[in-house]
Amino acid sequence: MKPLRRWPLHPAPREGEALSSWLHRIACCYQMNVRDLLQHDLNFNQTHDLDLRPPVALLEMLAQRSGVELALLRSMTLAGWTPWLLDSLDPDPLAFDAYSRQFSVLLPLYKRPARIVSCWTAWLPKQAIRRACPECIGQSENKVWLLMWQLPLLLSCPQHGCWLEPYFGVSNTFIGWETEKLSRPANKNITKMDRRTWQALSMGQVKLPNRSIHAGLWFRLLRTVLEELNTPLSRCSSQAQDIRFIWESCGYPVRAGRRIWQPYETLSLDIQLQMLEATATAMHLIETGRLIAQGEQAKLLRPEPSKKIDEGHCSTKQLNHWEMALAAAEEAVASARHNPEAAQALFNAITLGCRTAEFIRRTQALLSEIGIPSMGDHI
Ligand SMILES: [Zn+2]
Repeated sequence: MKPLRRWPLHPAPREGEALSSWLHRIACCYQMNVRDLLQHDLNFNQTHDLDLRPPVALLEMLAQRSGVELALLRSMTLAGWTPWLLDSLDPDPLAFDAYSRQFSVLLPLYKRPARIVSCWTAWLPKQAIRRACPECIGQSENKVWLLMWQLPLLLSCPQHGCWLEPYFGVSNTFIGWETEKLSRPANKNITKMDRRTWQALSMGQVKLPNRSIHAGLWFRLLRTVLEELNTPLSRCSSQAQDIRFIWESCGYPVRAGRRIWQPYETLSLDIQLQMLEATATAMHLIETGRLIAQGEQAKLLRPEPSKKIDEGHCSTKQLNHWEMALAAAEEAVASARHNPEAAQALFNAITLGCRTAEFIRRTQALLSEIGIPSMGDHI
């Protein structure tokens, strides 16, 4: 097929920009809207869910028209964030437990009930979220809307340190701010958490007090704490007072006043924001030693141990175990992508001790998703 010619005008995507925002800016160059641009120029009729999982054929045409790398265009959609931010966009009744019960921070894992949630996707809100940073939007005429503003993942703008504010809009068109009081500074617990989340999004790593961790681990830690803060106190036994202390410290009722459990993603935005703020508070309390959290991964948030302890005969090694394990896992995955023997060894290691048909199916799906050929022929 003949390659498409470049558009004469095509502003470059900005860091973190949503695909719909970029297309809107291109369409404006030609005094068009996005629908007309896609219909008349690319013969493409779908304009909804452009930021979720647009067809590959559309992204390929956009890459030809603009010269922007396909991988960058993909990262402007949520599909481009698998498997780091979310495991998959396909429905899977076991996805919820696999994502949010993999780790523990505030509560030992056994205190959190296992749950099967149908049609659940990590971080994907049930209703569209329209929030933006007033400073970012106010600074330029060519307004850039970030993909992550659409998710209940950030409370503030990592660059300006102010709250993301709700706005009125139709599709991707900004009509006006919902509130008159704009550019409210967020507190330091919130800005610290959000800047770490931005590091994960922009650099793939997050610097914590003790070490750097992979972005995928950071997003799952965040989602874990949100889930723990949403656990009925009756399940928390001796940790109930910790959970209560966190909620009191940020001035909200326990579980943001909720009595019935619902996945975080399906809650209203007001409740989600309170839960995110409680998560920022919990992380701050752990990091400052005011809360001794009982979960396995709480140690990742604790400050650097004192020199005395660090220089002990085995503590440095212990601290490095997690990093080494992550590095080894990344190496194994990279090798398995093109080496069948390595792929088989990785598959065997993952399924060691659990070879039920369901677990094997899920493992195959996960490996396939991260670019490792199916192991079906080797079982
Ligand atoms: Zn900003």
